[in-house]
Amino acid sequence: MLILMAQGAKREEIERVCQRVRELGLVPHEIPGSMRTAIGITGNQGPVHAEAFLHLPGVNECVPVSKPYKLVSREVKPEATVVDVNGQKIGDGSCAMIAGPCSVESREMAMRTAEVVANSGAKFFRGGAFKPRTSPYAFRGLKQEGLDILVEVRRHFDLRIVTEVMDTETLPAVAEAADVLQIGARNMQNFSLLEAAGRLRKPVLLKRAMSATIQELLMAAEYLLSLGNYNVILCERGIRTFETMTRNTFDIAALAMIKHHTHLPVIADPSHGVGIDWAVPPMARAATVAGADGIMIEVHPDPERALSDGQQSLTFEEYAKLAGDVAELAAWRRQR
Ligand code: PEP
Ligand code: MN
Repeated sequence: MLILMAQGAKREEIERVCQRVRELGLVPHEIPGSMRTAIGITGNQGPVHAEAFLHLPGVNECVPVSKPYKLVSREVKPEATVVDVNGQKIGDGSCAMIAGPCSVESREMAMRTAEVVANSGAKFFRGGAFKPRTSPYAFRGLKQEGLDILVEVRRHFDLRIVTEVMDTETLPAVAEAADVLQIGARNMQNFSLLEAAGRLRKPVLLKRAMSATIQELLMAAEYLLSLGNYNVILCERGIRTFETMTRNTFDIAALAMIKHHTHLPVIADPSHGVGIDWAVPPMARAATVAGADGIMIEVHPDPERALSDGQQSLTFEEYAKLAGDVAELAAWRRQR
């Protein structure tokens, strides 16, 4: 249920509605809009009855929310959400570049990569310190040392740090180094991690699991919002299909779908989406035109020697060229 307040409803009228929601054992979520405030209700098992609210002063309308996801839905909040990451915005109509190595491998490679990323105009640096790997024998990240390097990257360059958190145990340490917490494909439905990140209120980049429907991705995001964290950025990173020529099937249609059904920003990760270096730039350009709020790219000083995901990592030259292309396409998109 969504309660729409009248235009110009008073603060105490909004408070009173929230109070009434709490009296019924439910949770109110105030959603400010440019025209009027809406109050979403969660915590109900069955339908909530409009009569409980319609008579309260300042209430205009009570609308049932038809979708299983509520707070992430455009029905509840028609205006796009802009996530502010320490002054850099995602979802404001621009196309943010988020680039860096798959894994932070050393201080030297992280700093060299960050310099290229910053000089190409990006405001976000990605790099894993805790890496989920299929094989327990593969490189699984520098862990705390990797986080310390990321903190140094932030200090030296005008870059916000995006790094993956794999579990609740390491969440406090990762949150200290990160400006944006990445919850990876393998953890999209790790509900205890979602709950902990929801309580933290730090921006979260939530990646679509490799076999998740768009609705399952939105329901995972709903966990974060239901706990009060509205700073959520969704990410399409490819799904598993019968196709084997690409690492995953990059679902560009998901970008349009997600933007239609939710107000949350959505970025594209063509690096994991296709998994082949030469196919990444065309998919990045396509995702920009399709309306992505950001593009995440893996870039490495020497992809052949990368400790993870070298086959899909761009060289510095390839990355710089792509960053220019994305900026041009984003400018074209804005003019339309
Ligand atoms: C990554 O970004 O390096 C990563 C592991 O991504 P995903 O969770 O999408 O596989
Ligand atoms: Mn990777």
